[in-house]
Amino acid sequence: MSRLRLSSFLALLLAAHPGIAAGPPSPPTPSTDTRPLTVHFFDVGQGDAALVISPTGKTVLIDGGPPEARERLAARLRTLVTGPLDLVILTHPHLDHLGGLTDALRAVGARRFMDPGFNHPSEAYRDLLGFVGESVGQVMNPEPNPATPDSLLTIGLGEGVSLTVLWPRAPKEPFLVGTRSDANSNSIVAKLTYGRTAFLLVGDAEPDTEAALLQRPLDLTTTVLKVAHHGGRHSSTAAFLAAAKPQAAVISCGAKNDYGHPARETLERLDAVGAHVLRTDRDGEVVAASDGHTVTLRANGGTGALLVVPGGITPGPIALGPVVPGHSRPGRGTVEPRDEVKAPSPGTAPGERGSTPANTEGQGPYVGLKGSKVFHRETCSTLKRSKSERTLFLNREAALRERRPAEDCHP
Ligand SMILES: [Zn+2]
Ligand SMILES: [Zn+2]
Repeated sequence: MSRLRLSSFLALLLAAHPGIAAGPPSPPTPSTDTRPLTVHFFDVGQGDAALVISPTGKTVLIDGGPPEARERLAARLRTLVTGPLDLVILTHPHLDHLGGLTDALRAVGARRFMDPGFNHPSEAYRDLLGFVGESVGQVMNPEPNPATPDSLLTIGLGEGVSLTVLWPRAPKEPFLVGTRSDANSNSIVAKLTYGRTAFLLVGDAEPDTEAALLQRPLDLTTTVLKVAHHGGRHSSTAAFLAAAKPQAAVISCGAKNDYGHPARETLERLDAVGAHVLRTDRDGEVVAASDGHTVTLRANGGTGALLVVPGGITPGPIALGPVVPGHSRPGRGTVEPRDEVKAPSPGTAPGERGSTPANTEGQGPYVGLKGSKVFHRETCSTLKRSKSERTLFLNREAALRERRPAEDCHP
């Protein structure tokens, strides 16, 4: 039962040309009559959970809060989501990020699950993987495509909205080990872009993660930063914040938590780069809505105080060159990525289901080549022959909005 490799998923491997900047296609100018891109930063107490809803209704849940918040999170998802989540991302296998996921999946379901694939020996994580293996169609890691290993993985969410994974990059690059917390350090870091606006979602990234990102040719600028590790004092280094230049920063933490999150030093560093800070412990659920030009943030689940910030992002590729480290850092070992998912009972293998992703059910994924007006099945031989940049559509409906079916594979 092997975990689906993204090579077979053919996810939006950008940048087939070595030496040429990789990145998603330039987003179309968002029109004023489309729905906004919305990100709900839920109030889950001491933990993280955020829901992305794209203008076309694609949904991505990033983390599922601590166990204490599971009923609240499931109830909130039921009111916001119709049908299964298109993608669930577990940034890393800590309990304050995964504790509510099983109930969330039971409440609304999910088509795909992605986590870093970093091995973590906890019962809660093992149980979650078991549940995911049985209930979610595709289980995958954010691994670069072997054919274009220096590019980034980008997932199209329609209307020019893209979610690009910046870290980790195993097996192309080893996981970070020997850090303050290796699980935190290998958090999935993703940049969500829409027009001139962006959200940088960094899980519990550590200073080592930030340094690794800074060593690579990446555009880290963002409109909104989901602050690392609940505002802990080690993360959100001055160098990282200087590169990210956030206009607004959201800290997900519990009221009167035991960790002293957010740390005073972190708040000072955010202030020093001019970021307006919102905190779930004080502001409740923070709802951020982007029209592609500005981001409007509201407290208390969208009913509270209003903050409008300019996008400030130059649309274009996030990878400013082949994504390789600038220089290697001393003292780093390597660990092998985990590629097995243990399910508690035999049954349909998620990897097997995923390797012929629900094309037969019209669920995709489908792939479009840059400069073309058509989309293909991910198994189409035309794709194997082409070195053009690719865009992934999570389902047929999304593909049809932007392109027509190819004549060769009749997707
Ligand atoms: Zn955490
Ligand atoms: Zn953590």
